[in-house]
Amino acid sequence: MNLTRNFSLLELTKSDTAIRKGIDNNPNADQVEKLKALCENILQPVRDHFGRVKVTSGFRSVELCTAIGSSANSQHAKAEAADFECPGVDNAELADWIHKNLSYDQLILEFYTPGEPNSGWIHCSWISDQPRASYLHAFKSEGKTKYKPIIGSAKDLV
Ligand SMILES: [Zn+2]
Repeated sequence: MNLTRNFSLLELTKSDTAIRKGIDNNPNADQVEKLKALCENILQPVRDHFGRVKVTSGFRSVELCTAIGSSANSQHAKAEAADFECPGVDNAELADWIHKNLSYDQLILEFYTPGEPNSGWIHCSWISDQPRASYLHAFKSEGKTKYKPIIGSAKDLV
């Protein structure tokens, strides 16, 4: 089943952990609609601009969240978020492009190390109602994950 021209439902729900552990990671009808909206508003425009998108994690059922140590309150469990990269594109450049060109709820440049274009990945969520437009850099500091707002451009991160 295709959600948009270049994105299938399978791409947004596939999880190696779910397969390995026999976890049900099938979204319900409402969640499928939300995944479609995520593709229409974020992933497809990114694909149209950069020519390729590799989704590393989309929907995660509560059971899958528990299995991988992710929060069951995560927007992945609500079918509102995806993690992805565009192979060959600097993740800071990709995040800045989304920030400048798309309407989003939360955009996180995850574990990006300035100066290492391929480090980390992009987490982006979309909701129709009152999106926060929150743009953050996630990084590890003393073993903990910290979030810092990105003011202006991710290219200015040091
Ligand atoms: Zn994520």
